[in-house]
Parts: sequence; structure tokens; C-alpha cells
Amino acid sequence: MSSSEQDQTDKQKYEFKKVIEDLREYEGSGTQLVTIYIPDDRQISSVVEHVTQEHSEASNIKSKQTRTAVQDALTSIKDRLRYYDVYPPENGMVIFSGAIDTGGGRTDMVTKVLESPPQPIESFRYHCDSDFLTGPLEEMLGDKGLFGLIVLDRREANVGWLKGKRVEPVKSASSLVPGKQRKGGQSAQRFARLRLEAIDNFYQEVAGMADDLFVDRRHEMDGILVGGPSPTKDEFLDGDYLHHELGDMVLGKFDVSYTDESGLYDLVDAAQDILDEHEVMQDKSEMEEFFKELHDGNLATYGFEATRENLVMGAVDRLLISEDMRRDVISYECPNGHEEREVVDRREDTSDHDCSRCGETVDADEAEREDLIDHLMGIAEQRGTETKFISTDFEKGEQLLNAFGGVAGILRYDTGV
Ligand SMILES: [Zn+2]
Repeated sequence: MSSSEQDQTDKQKYEFKKVIEDLREYEGSGTQLVTIYIPDDRQISSVVEHVTQEHSEASNIKSKQTRTAVQDALTSIKDRLRYYDVYPPENGMVIFSGAIDTGGGRTDMVTKVLESPPQPIESFRYHCDSDFLTGPLEEMLGDKGLFGLIVLDRREANVGWLKGKRVEPVKSASSLVPGKQRKGGQSAQRFARLRLEAIDNFYQEVAGMADDLFVDRRHEMDGILVGGPSPTKDEFLDGDYLHHELGDMVLGKFDVSYTDESGLYDLVDAAQDILDEHEVMQDKSEMEEFFKELHDGNLATYGFEATRENLVMGAVDRLLISEDMRRDVISYECPNGHEEREVVDRREDTSDHDCSRCGETVDADEAEREDLIDHLMGIAEQRGTETKFISTDFEKGEQLLNAFGGVAGILRYDTGV
């Protein structure tokens, strides 16, 4: 994946997260919030059929208020589905619709469509409850990474993927390696030789299977995990059966008892520490570099205003944004043309602003309000600056959020800002 594609993915993930956070807050006063997960191979017409069916079944709902709310949600979903052709966009889509409580007995109709999530939606799901079903989407967004998985013993092997937190078995093989007991009449020596040959052949077959799957995608992969009983996995790795570039990507070998598909899941469990570590490794090294520049160099910038100024100059090499930052930026222009900005919590209302240079007041409704991350990423895109989202799952990542306002940058050159 190129870095600009990665930026796009990060940005899209961020957009999704924002919507999900909002949706999670909502509550319906009854069982009246509808969520539909649609895989990309599901025909839109069949979804419409399903929704129509639900609409007619909803007429049996006793509470008039709930009945109307559910039917309104379903009508709104049908309206949205009209925008699509035969199939949903790649990876599918999720539709949320329902009348949410806005307090004081009032409700508000909300309909949101999220297209093309980062991983494919696997099965069609219709969900009607007092809250929206956001869990499956959150799982997709919460984790990064693409890992190759191999489990083997001398009789059986499975290879597959770990995509985020999802295990995807792909291929399996079983061997013709004879057991340890030789048949009568066979010489012990000949039996041992044949057995070793068969083992060697099987390891080659497993390696071939892994090569077929992994070699083409090795540049987007984060590593390979190998599992099995001892000494099989050790023999396999020590024997250099894998393509040499794949061999270099092996992050670790783990004891697992099963080598069928379930062994792939066991392998991921066994490797959890390494996977956790790996997830923040890239983020950690960005933050290490930032702190090094902050203490001993002059290529660090932080805080909204300073980082923004450097960004506008085109001086920022990498923009570091805390993935847990949820703030907006409000831009004011006073009658004398002075532009000033305020950073506020997302839930805070826009207020009037007194220009610090001339004292003129700018009304809240004349201000422009934008999500802070969108604002900075917009400038970064124009200036060819890479954006990195930094997790808060490690100490320096937490510091970025709490001590540096969630925004920092590593500069291309010293600007004195
Ligand atoms: Zn002014």
C-alpha cells in the first residue's frame, strides 16, 4: 500500500469512527432503531424485498408510536437504497435509521449510510433494537494489520490470513507421511529414509502453499506467524522451506495443539502479545522520533496553532494526530479582516468571539466550524504532508493526546515557529 493510499484508509477509518461514536450515543425510546449490514454480493433488490417484508410485519407492533417509528425508519432505508444500482459498493455497506430520543419527549429521524468499510461485510444482518448495532463495524476499525498464518504438523497444515482481528482460513493440505510404525518386511533403514523424504515433501508442499498465498502481498503484510507442535514447526522454519523474503517476515513460532482450521485461531491467541506490540510499533517509533527532536533537535512542532502554521508553510514532513482526539476548530474573521481560530470540544457550542487584535466581536453564526482533524488533513493533503494517526495504547501516545493537544509534527526543516 502506498503512503497516500494508507492516508486515505486512515482518513476513511476516522470518518467511520466519528459516525459510529455519534450513533452509539443515540437511543430509541422503544425497539425502533434499525441497522442493516449488506455484503457486496447481495443484490439491492433482495434487500429492498427484505425491508418491504419487515415493513409489513411491523404493522403487528402493538405500540403505535413504535410501529410508526419502525415503519418510518424502513421507508427511509428504502429511499436510500434507490441510489444504488444492482449491488452495493465494494465491501458492502451499513445503513442505520431510526427515530432517536432528543430529550423532552421529542424524537429526531436519523439515517446514515456507511459505504465500503475497510473490510468486507460477510453476512447480511437485519437488526431492530433500542440502539444501533455498531459492534461489527467497530471491530473492523479497531485493528490494523495483515498477517500470514501457518500451522502445521507432519500430517496436516493450514494457511490463512489474520486481517485485523479476523482469521481467514484459506488452504489446507494433508500429508502421506507414514506413522512411526513400519510394516513388516520393510527394512528399518529404508523405512526411515522414505519417512524423511515424505516429511521433506510435505514441508515443501506447505511452503509452496504459503508462497502462493503470501509472496504477492508480502509488501502489505506485517508479518507471518507459525504454529504447531515441536519439533515440526522448528524443522519447517530451520529448513528454510519458505521463500526467503517470507522467511525474514516470521515474527515468531508458537506451540499450538491443533493444525486444522481451529489451529489458526489458537495461533492468533498464542501470539497475542506480539500482535499487541506490533500494532503500536509503528506509532511508537514516530513518537520516539518526535520526542528526540523535541529534546535534542529542532524539527518538532506541537499544539494546534504552531503545527497548523508549519503545515501551511509546507514545512511538515509527518503530521501526527492522536486517534482519540475529538475536537472542532472554529474560524472567525472580524470586520477588519483579522482571522482567528478557536479549538473546542466537539460537544461544545459555537460562541461569539472577540478579536484579540482589534476587539471587534464576531457572531457565532458567522463563524466557520470544522472537525479539527479534517481541517488539518485538508491542509496536509495540499502540501504533500503524510498524516499518521497515533494510538493512545502506549505512554507516549497518551502524552500526545493529553500533553500536546493531540496534534504534533515532524518538520522537514527548522522554521523557528
Ligand atoms: Zn480584528
